Amino acid sequence: MSRPPTHPLSRRSVVAGASAALVGTGGLVGALTGESEAAVVAGTRQGALPRAVDVVVVGAGISGLVAAREVARKGRSVLVVEARKRVGGRVLNHRLTTSHGSGVIESGGAFIGPTQNHIAALADELGVPTFPEYNTGSSVYLSSLIGRLEYPGTVPPDPTILADAALLLQQIDGFAAEIDVAAPWAHPRAREWDSMTLSQWIHANALNPAGIENVITCWTQPGFGADPSELSFLFTLWYVACSGDEAHKGTFSRNSDTASGAQERRFVGGSQRVPLKLARSLGDAVALHAPVRRIVQKHHRVHVRTGRGTVVARRVIVAAPPPTVLDVGFHPGLPADRRALLSSLRMGQLMKCDAVYETPFWRAAGLNGFGISDHGAARAVFDNTPPSGGPGVLLAFVGGSTWRSYGALPADQRRSAVLQGFAEMFGPQALHPIDFVEHDWTRERWSRGGPTAIHAPGALATYGPSVRRPLGRVHWAGTETATYWSGYMDGAVSSGKRAAAEVLAKLRR
Ligand SMILES: Cc1cc2nc3c(=O)[nH]c(=O)nc-3n(C[C@H](O)[C@H](O)[C@H](O)COP(=O)(O)OP(=O)(O)OC[C@H]3O[C@@H](n4cnc5c(N)ncnc54)[C@H](O)[C@@H]3O)c2cc1C
Repeated sequence: MSRPPTHPLSRRSVVAGASAALVGTGGLVGALTGESEAAVVAGTRQGALPRAVDVVVVGAGISGLVAAREVARKGRSVLVVEARKRVGGRVLNHRLTTSHGSGVIESGGAFIGPTQNHIAALADELGVPTFPEYNTGSSVYLSSLIGRLEYPGTVPPDPTILADAALLLQQIDGFAAEIDVAAPWAHPRAREWDSMTLSQWIHANALNPAGIENVITCWTQPGFGADPSELSFLFTLWYVACSGDEAHKGTFSRNSDTASGAQERRFVGGSQRVPLKLARSLGDAVALHAPVRRIVQKHHRVHVRTGRGTVVARRVIVAAPPPTVLDVGFHPGLPADRRALLSSLRMGQLMKCDAVYETPFWRAAGLNGFGISDHGAARAVFDNTPPSGGPGVLLAFVGGSTWRSYGALPADQRRSAVLQGFAEMFGPQALHPIDFVEHDWTRERWSRGGPTAIHAPGALATYGPSVRRPLGRVHWAGTETATYWSGYMDGAVSSGKRAAAEVLAKLRR
């Protein structure tokens, strides 16, 4: 097979202007970070696709781009075919420009924390530094029962939930520690745990189920885009088990915390710098606006039909979110267990709403900008201020049932509801932002929601074993196929590396 396609510089500059028009809201990232999204898009493949390559990768999210880079590094020809007109998938920067400063925030994946070794090493190699999420001062807890509390540490000192928090989180960590992250279905209690929701388990085990469920909902809505009543208990335990690495068992606190947890750091210039840099290095081995519609295996080859023509490959890596995989026509078709697994997974329902202020005024009041609430549109709130310290940004994750209540409202009503929540936490100044930015992932055709695909009860224990099993010459990547930190950028990187290794081993034979 031929070497990876290269891109003539002359054509690159000619198309740069046209490509700039393709770029969406994250298009001006480069002014701050050195990667111009327009230049990256311009460097991707323009014109006809190659007729044949060693490996086609479906999806230019972090996972697909990592897989392609691994394949290209071994001298194999590769083409990434991406449905969107941009790279990064669920990772997307948004540039803020105000009279009080500028900066980049993320509309999608943003945080990184300890034991997320794969994304940390990749970002380091690509020269994308991190900075600590602001975490000085107290957090805020809003309870319909006991009112507003400012508290240090991680668990709000609400007497109605403290005993349950201690008891249930210890049990969750204990169960998670017994789970094999590569095979949660193999646990002796897998079927029992997969027959109930997290909510049902809470109600069977808590002293004050409503109180603790309200607090746990403030974790599941941003973390899964869903409520405890929507999540298989086995899936939840596995997710906690995945919040670690080979040397550190996953724990609830590593998943949910800021200090020493998954929300500990953010990327300078925004997380989309990672896929932008990967795509730049791949050049015209990436083809945008090329949705894959059909994957046909015949005569020891795979024919990948895209919106820009058909490419023949020896192997294919599919690195697209599970629900979008079901839109692809496979011949031979997906086996029943894999189809059942994909059909039972749905994406979480999540949007991010950011209010922008002249300064992070809450910091002067001794507050760190983190808050949780048992009511309203702002149930889980973070300080999303750029590392320069201004403009100040408060971020609300609007997920699960909160998304169902507020996501469909007219934008001005949603904005008022979110600002009202911020004001309850941080004072009336929060009612008057200089800008308001929102991104609803359920409206994204090629994501269908976020942050990850979720399991209701009944499928993981039964159909889980099919998650990474290749279909002939078609291999599976994407964060949902990862073990540690599945659902996260880290899982996207590790799954891309794993799928590339599978394919390279086959190509060597
Ligand atoms: C709001 C939100 C907040 C998040 N917060 C965090 C966080 O703080 N930290 C963290 O680590 N993670 C976070 N995540 C999750 C993280 O963004 C994802 O786990 C990760 O980006 C997934 O990468 P991926 O490559 O596996 O999939 P994706 O990024 O979804 O990439 C898949 C690609 O496949 C393309 N595609 C789909 N169908 C087709 C087709 N038929 N043909 C061609 N291309 C196709 C898509 O367009 C997309 O580009 C968040 C996600 C969201 C949405």
